Amino acid sequence: MASSFSLSFLKKLQRTNDVVSFFFEKPEGFDFIPGQYLYITIPHQDADDRGTTRYFTISASPTHENLMITTKILNRPSTFKRHLNQLQAGDTVTTFGPMGTFVLDETANRHHVLLAGGIGMTPYYSMISYIADKKLSIPVTLLVSFSSEKEKVFYEELTALAKNNPQLSISYRSKKLSKELITKHIPGDARYFLVGPSAMVEATKQLLTQLEIPTDQIVIEDFHGY
Ligand SMILES: Cc1cc2nc3c(=O)[nH]c(=O)nc-3n(C[C@H](O)[C@H](O)[C@H](O)COP(=O)(O)OP(=O)(O)OC[C@H]3O[C@@H](n4cnc5c(N)ncnc54)[C@H](O)[C@@H]3O)c2cc1C
Repeated sequence: MASSFSLSFLKKLQRTNDVVSFFFEKPEGFDFIPGQYLYITIPHQDADDRGTTRYFTISASPTHENLMITTKILNRPSTFKRHLNQLQAGDTVTTFGPMGTFVLDETANRHHVLLAGGIGMTPYYSMISYIADKKLSIPVTLLVSFSSEKEKVFYEELTALAKNNPQLSISYRSKKLSKELITKHIPGDARYFLVGPSAMVEATKQLLTQLEIPTDQIVIEDFHGY
């Protein structure tokens, strides 16, 4: 059940030019489903218009030792991201969660088609790591678009997982997801997940409509704020 608690910061890891993962100690008894998110507060006096709170998907799997969030730290970040990026080991942040219905249903062996743009990879890393660790028999097709080679978040980790799992197919594209690409990878009966910044989600949703995918087979998470 969602509740308020504080998280102790452990360390960070630079993943690409501008994407960083932040690790926090997992509180005793904290449970979540792959795909869920947290509402994180970092109080600071010099907050800009966007304030002191943000939503972040938990990009770690529940099977991992620590909690992890993964985000872009731009050259001119918001005051929130600047303070996030300056956390030192042992610092605490306040959080509320876990929340969200954009989640893996581990009881359904139906094919999962995971569609993402860039930073939208965060819930999928959690889901795919969980499927691997639990040895679940869920076929997964991951289609990701990136603006440049340097933006391939979690690429090495996921490629390694795909090597050991014939049911996991991964395709990274430097272009936008197209109707042709989705059609090529479409299995017969599947559950479609779609996540990313609002503009990407809206454009891909239209493609799925054109492909006559029933809306009850599509689960969407909009990273509004990007
Ligand atoms: C349910 C949910 C889950 C989310 N999960 C994640 C997650 O796992 N990882 C994550 O990074 N974010 C996630 N977000 C979005 C997150 O909450 C922030 O809104 C987002 O990271 C932007 O942060 P920022 O406002 O601190 O801006 P910064 O990233 O510091 O950017 C500074 C400014 O630049 C603008 N900007 C940033 N990128 C672009 C762009 N591509 N084009 C134009 N302007 C841009 C921003 O609007 C902002 O005004 C999630 C949002 C929701 C609702």
